[in-house]
Amino acid sequence: MRFSFTISVFLLSFLSISKGYAIHTEPESVRDTATAVVVYNADARFLPQANYGVKEYTRMIDSLVVLDTVPVSLVNQLSVYRMLADKNAGELELVIDSIFDMENVPQPVLNAVNIYMTTMEDALAQPTGLYAYVPESTAPHPSDYFYKDWNTEVPNPYRNNLSKFDSTLKLMLVDSAQNCGYYPPFEGVVTSHFGWRYGRNHNGIDIDLEVWDPVHSAFAGVVRVAKYYQGFGRVVVVRHYNGLETLYAHLHRFKVRPGDIIEAGDVVGLGGSSGHSTGSHLHFEVRFQGVPIKPSSLIDFKSNKIRTNVVALQKSGAFLAVAADNETGVKKVYVVKQGDYLYKIAEKFGTSVDKICTLNNIQSKSSLVTGQKLIIGT
Ligand SMILES: [Zn+2]
Repeated sequence: MRFSFTISVFLLSFLSISKGYAIHTEPESVRDTATAVVVYNADARFLPQANYGVKEYTRMIDSLVVLDTVPVSLVNQLSVYRMLADKNAGELELVIDSIFDMENVPQPVLNAVNIYMTTMEDALAQPTGLYAYVPESTAPHPSDYFYKDWNTEVPNPYRNNLSKFDSTLKLMLVDSAQNCGYYPPFEGVVTSHFGWRYGRNHNGIDIDLEVWDPVHSAFAGVVRVAKYYQGFGRVVVVRHYNGLETLYAHLHRFKVRPGDIIEAGDVVGLGGSSGHSTGSHLHFEVRFQGVPIKPSSLIDFKSNKIRTNVVALQKSGAFLAVAADNETGVKKVYVVKQGDYLYKIAEKFGTSVDKICTLNNIQSKSSLVTGQKLIIGT
């Protein structure tokens, strides 16, 4: 049964009896008699959603606990989801380990954890370590393994939570073998650089252009946002297969819509001066999980070329600093999608099933699991 958000929001104003992340457990007497019926009742099931966070689960719980007959097991289930919702893959492992270390784990909690982990498997396949992730050109939303949300309304909906960031992550920006290149958004004079400006952060760079000049997507990807948004004016945000997002602001006209699949170099809009802008220019941002990256550390705006194919991301204050990295020795990792099989993957990356099997220590008949990481090459 899917709970309507309208009902949840409608009931939001009622006083909540659920506080913090405490897991509601049923009294012993109730559990003995009613748990089997309630917990395994299909109607009491609610599947976690990748785009739900602590706030959404809290709303749902708040709307349930004021009902005349509180659906206790469902509240338990949602409380577990809420506890797990803001954890990254590494933190989740720790939480789940600690749950299984408990002497008597309440069965409803175990059920909820299992449902959560099974349902969210794809979203939780967050990479760690010294890996470059190869561009994936078939996923509906690129780089799903880096992002929980696909938000078409807000340019930067992510919480800038750098403490969760794995500083050893490497990204492969362009991959000539996969025909994923770089294209300059606009070849013009940089009039304002990235960094502290007039008492606030300038999270991108400004490139001078004339109204109606075409603005191009830097990399291949899928358009996430194309709308008028506050000071950005007409703004386009593209999610790329390399894990980055790029933003193009102050446009005069849109040439794409959210969901459009685009190649590097495709025109996303025509330059202008919409929003908070004095004079026509392109405001161009590069972000990873919402955290701004200095564009000139990736791109040489004088020669209009990408500086390096592989970058290592490192925390640096509120920003992510990037260090050029050598492509040799970097393991290319592919995240298995639904419907994949070894031959298909081998063909896609111009390698052989035998090579993949050797690199991953698996048999050619091994069955693949969605979200599984396969080393494709080094
Ligand atoms: Zn700007």
